[in-house]
Amino acid sequence: MSINRRLFGTNGIRGVVNKELTPEMAVAVGAAIGTYFKGGKIIIGHDARTSSPMLTEAVISGLIATGCQVLNAGMAPTPALQYAVKSLKTDGGVIITASHNPPEYNGIKVLWHDGIEISREQEIEVENIFFEKKLNYSAWNRLGDAEFLTGILDNYIEAIKGHVNAAKIADKNFYAVVDAANSVAALTVPRLLRELGCRVTTINANIDGTFPGRPPEPRPENLRELSMAVKALHADFGVAFDGDGDRAIFVDDEGEVHWGDKTFALIVKYFLKNNQGEKIVTPVSSSMLVKDVADAFGGEVVWTKVGSVTVSHTMKRINAKLGGEENGGIFYGPHLAVRDGGMATALILDILAEEGRKLSEMLRKLPKYFIEKDKVDCPETLKHEVLKKLIEEVKEQNIITIDGVKIWFEDSSSILIRPSGTEPLYRLYAEAKTWERARELIQKYGIKIRELIDSLKSAATY
Ligand code: MG
Repeated sequence: MSINRRLFGTNGIRGVVNKELTPEMAVAVGAAIGTYFKGGKIIIGHDARTSSPMLTEAVISGLIATGCQVLNAGMAPTPALQYAVKSLKTDGGVIITASHNPPEYNGIKVLWHDGIEISREQEIEVENIFFEKKLNYSAWNRLGDAEFLTGILDNYIEAIKGHVNAAKIADKNFYAVVDAANSVAALTVPRLLRELGCRVTTINANIDGTFPGRPPEPRPENLRELSMAVKALHADFGVAFDGDGDRAIFVDDEGEVHWGDKTFALIVKYFLKNNQGEKIVTPVSSSMLVKDVADAFGGEVVWTKVGSVTVSHTMKRINAKLGGEENGGIFYGPHLAVRDGGMATALILDILAEEGRKLSEMLRKLPKYFIEKDKVDCPETLKHEVLKKLIEEVKEQNIITIDGVKIWFEDSSSILIRPSGTEPLYRLYAEAKTWERARELIQKYGIKIRELIDSLKSAATY
């Protein structure tokens, strides 16, 4: 019927608690999910937010009402819940989390039986059930039930250890500082590292849904404390997580915070040494660094639209073993093709142990890029036309148009021009070997996109 109704955003259902996301709504969403899964076996779990237990109970009610057998795993990192769904072979899963959003937010993610979030097509089916109220409530004597599920964190930690050279890592006695964002990474990562023979100091490792230590998004400006701790303690590295533990940002032994595509490039390099010719999946927003490294070590980059679910689904479709995002999401297929902060940390440890060199030294050896960004206001109604006209203008150049348009130049510089999915604007993101060149690209294409918008605006007034 109506085309604009949407329940799911780019990362599940998100909203401010008791404003956009109420318990009543969560019951109905639970019932819609239960109807979609036809009363199957569903694992549910949640992050450390103040509202997570409330919303979990509400979703469980909806699931039971539609005949589901619910296994409540309680508080856990998102990737641990995803691994539980896959390894315990349930019909699906539900996670109550708002990942890196501020404390007043929460959200609902739905997992398919392989542990990966459901596709957009499947979301539309759940949305139709929800909006058209096609809820398949069970009779009083056919209700589902819920029981507690224990042990998923142990299984998850064991599985990760099985993908790295645990003995070699243990030999090195690495010293790590973990910033768990006062959330669920605290439940698994310090233990994983200690079981791998590391000495661990934690910060923000007490669970607190108000996020008193730092905002749950692991951006460099939020990680000064971690950076100082790594330096002061002479640790081998530091690692910081987002609110649900699926993204990891690393700090080297000199205290420098590295953005995700740099550590991803390092992982790509060592992965390709042992897996020649493999495909590396990453969104068009990732640095050219990833392609440079893949080219140099005999891999092939497969670009996708921006969004972790797209990366997961692309990996599944082409059977790729490694994916990554610039925001610190590492997807390791042999474990599970979803981003996983614990798995990412184990992979970095594996590289440190294998190479016997410092993280700062290895990251310094990667090609260097300078980045410049800009944004240009653009009315929603013109976004599509602007992109069409822009592609028309640049189509003779070396471009890809998977998500916005990315233009590559001979000198290894590039610019990505992309309409924002959430705000009325275009984002420009330039990368080059010199700062001057990155700036030149941002200025040139900033002018171009402003001219296009202006000409379309004035055309619209006639
Ligand atoms: Mg997250």
